[in-house]
Amino acid sequence: MDCIFCKIVAGQIPSDVVYTDDRVIAFRDINPMAPVHLLIIPREHIVSLNDITERETPLLGHMVQVSKQLAKQQGVGTKGYRVVINCGSQGGQVVQHLHMHLLGGRELSGGLG
Ligand code: 5GP
Ligand code: ZN
Repeated sequence: MDCIFCKIVAGQIPSDVVYTDDRVIAFRDINPMAPVHLLIIPREHIVSLNDITERETPLLGHMVQVSKQLAKQQGVGTKGYRVVINCGSQGGQVVQHLHMHLLGGRELSGGLG
C-alpha cells in the first residue's frame, strides 16, 4: 500500500515518534505550524473521518485521550492547544490516512480558516 503514514507506522519512513501503543502512534509533523505540532494516527489504515463507524468510535475516543495526555506531556495542557481533524479535499486533508493534529505552544488564531 502506498500510504506514507502506514509506512511511518511500519517504520519504513523515519519520523520523530513521541508516543506509541497498540492502537495509535504519535509523531512530530514534518512541517510544524506551531512549536508543538503532533500527528496522532491509528495504526490501522483508515482513510478519513468519513470511514468512522460505531466500530471505530472507541478508537477515536482513544485518540482524543492520547491527544490530551500528549498536550500535558508537551507542556501545553494548561495554557491551551487545538485538536483538528481535516476531512476531504475542501477540509484540507492531504494525507489519506486518518490523523489528528495537536497544535500548541503559541497563540492560535480564533478563526478556523
Ligand atoms: P492534512 O493536511 O492531511 O490534514 O495534514 C497532513 C500533515 O502531514 C501535514 O501537516 C504534513 O506536514 C504532514 N506530513 C506529510 N508527510 C509527512 C511525513 O512524511 N512525515 C511527517 N512527520 N509529517 C508529514
Ligand atoms: Zn495508511
